[in-house]
Amino acid sequence: MQNNHSRRSVLKGLAAASAAGALAPAMAAVDPCKIPAKWDVTTEVLVIGSGGAGLASAVSAAQGGAKVTVMEKLGFVGGNTMLCSGYYNCVDPNRQKPQGIKDSVELHVQQTLAAGDYRADPKLVETLCSKGLETLQWLEGLGMKIQPKVTQVYGALYPRSHLATESKGAGYVKALKTKADELGVKFLMSTKMKTIVREKPQAGRVLGVEAVTSDGKTILVRATKGVILAAGGYAANPELRSLYDPRLRTLTTTNNTACSTGEVMLAANAAGAMLIGTDYIQCNPGPAPGHQNGVRQSLHLEVEKYIYVDQRGQRFVAEDARRDVVRDAVLALPEKYGYVIVDADGFKANPPAAQRDAKRGLETGDSFTAETLAELAKKIKIDPKALQKTIDEFNACVDKKSDPKFGRKPAMLTSKLLKGPWWAAYSAMAVHHTMGGVRIDTQARVIDLAGKVIPGLYAAGEVTGGIHGSNRVGGNAVLDIHVFGRIAGKSAATGA
Ligand SMILES: Cc1cc2nc3c(=O)[nH]c(=O)nc-3n(C[C@H](O)[C@H](O)[C@H](O)COP(=O)(O)OP(=O)(O)OC[C@H]3O[C@@H](n4cnc5c(N)ncnc54)[C@H](O)[C@@H]3O)c2cc1C
Repeated sequence: MQNNHSRRSVLKGLAAASAAGALAPAMAAVDPCKIPAKWDVTTEVLVIGSGGAGLASAVSAAQGGAKVTVMEKLGFVGGNTMLCSGYYNCVDPNRQKPQGIKDSVELHVQQTLAAGDYRADPKLVETLCSKGLETLQWLEGLGMKIQPKVTQVYGALYPRSHLATESKGAGYVKALKTKADELGVKFLMSTKMKTIVREKPQAGRVLGVEAVTSDGKTILVRATKGVILAAGGYAANPELRSLYDPRLRTLTTTNNTACSTGEVMLAANAAGAMLIGTDYIQCNPGPAPGHQNGVRQSLHLEVEKYIYVDQRGQRFVAEDARRDVVRDAVLALPEKYGYVIVDADGFKANPPAAQRDAKRGLETGDSFTAETLAELAKKIKIDPKALQKTIDEFNACVDKKSDPKFGRKPAMLTSKLLKGPWWAAYSAMAVHHTMGGVRIDTQARVIDLAGKVIPGLYAAGEVTGGIHGSNRVGGNAVLDIHVFGRIAGKSAATGA
């Protein structure tokens, strides 16, 4: 069930998070009853976070004529967007038609709503899907290079995933940061936002924020046109992510552990913002248990090309299923991990970065390769006969275009697994994306506990909730951060 937080439940979350020490400093040091007499920095639009949502907001606000400052707690820009695979879903007739793919915005909307169990806000989903192509073209106009063909990334459910030509998520960050610099956007690096300052406690206009610099100095930043929250999710905060699902406490995460700690979402709630859907948390294949610092493997990205097997060498789930279905299937295995298996063709079909990580993973024990399937089976301690039987059964499914045991769809039964070198990637569930967060409207304005707009406060990206419902479609987050980032920037610049 979607969780529209009551203040009590959120305060419970805060208490739990604070008890672990992770978020204790998020509690206000500024006196919420007093408007500061002096501000250390004044700007028109202040953006919190320099990932894809933050940079898109900053560029869009600057294009709208505003003076913009981005505050980033780390010493570098990009957040998780920098390390993401960069798949971007949208309906795109110029690319899809030549590939024989029929698509429409209505279909994208319907699939997104259904995949999230109808828990997403339909108006936000319509905005997300209908503005996908124009936002992609906006990014291309800023220098982003996108491949001519679309594909169906893991969890995408339909072939409309666009991929950067060279550098995955880093390509978006580079294009946006270059434009932001050109437009004179200022960056306050190594500065962590703590508290949102409003005219009155939980009432009135948002005036700015209180933050702390890396040398421990508290600063007050005034934003005369608005503050845009773009601080990402909380996948790296074990207390927050396990509030509703204790299975998630001890898992690894695919996220940068310094980024996704959730304190900005909690500060927004403390300032009066509504949070929604914070129990919807997505896992993805990631580092094996105990391997947080290993090399994350991504040989699962091209769904047509791989199968997932357990330690007995058997398939256990339709590899093209929703991500929450795959998560539950993996977490139900006694070992809580499986192996992604690809043959030589499947390996080559993966983006260069995924191939590079697989090669690096050989040294850290996160991936394995062998000329023959039997040799590979020995390396991963699976009975070679059992693995061969599974491959033969899967290839028969491809012949028949039917997978009676698990229900993998015919469109994903196109590639047999035939020849070496074979690859296996050690693949457990890692916390990947948090679908809940600050509630916004279609203009990216933050909504308060009474359902009203908070003047001067906007939000975009993974810090928000209500866009993906209970389960995010693979490739819809990179879409989300840019579509709503662009909207938030425009809204703040124009005072919407
Ligand atoms: C490995 C990986 C692969 C992925 N691949 C895909 C994909 O192919 N397609 C897809 O759709 N989605 C993908 N995702 C999900 C998607 O990348 C993220 O949802 C998205 O990048 C989040 O962007 P964001 O701008 O909201 O947050 P981020 O990019 O995480 O940026 C948030 C920024 O805010 C900063 N910040 C946080 N708190 C504070 C604070 N208190 N003060 C100041 N700054 C703060 C952080 O340091 C960070 O720089 C992937 C995610 C991961 C981890």
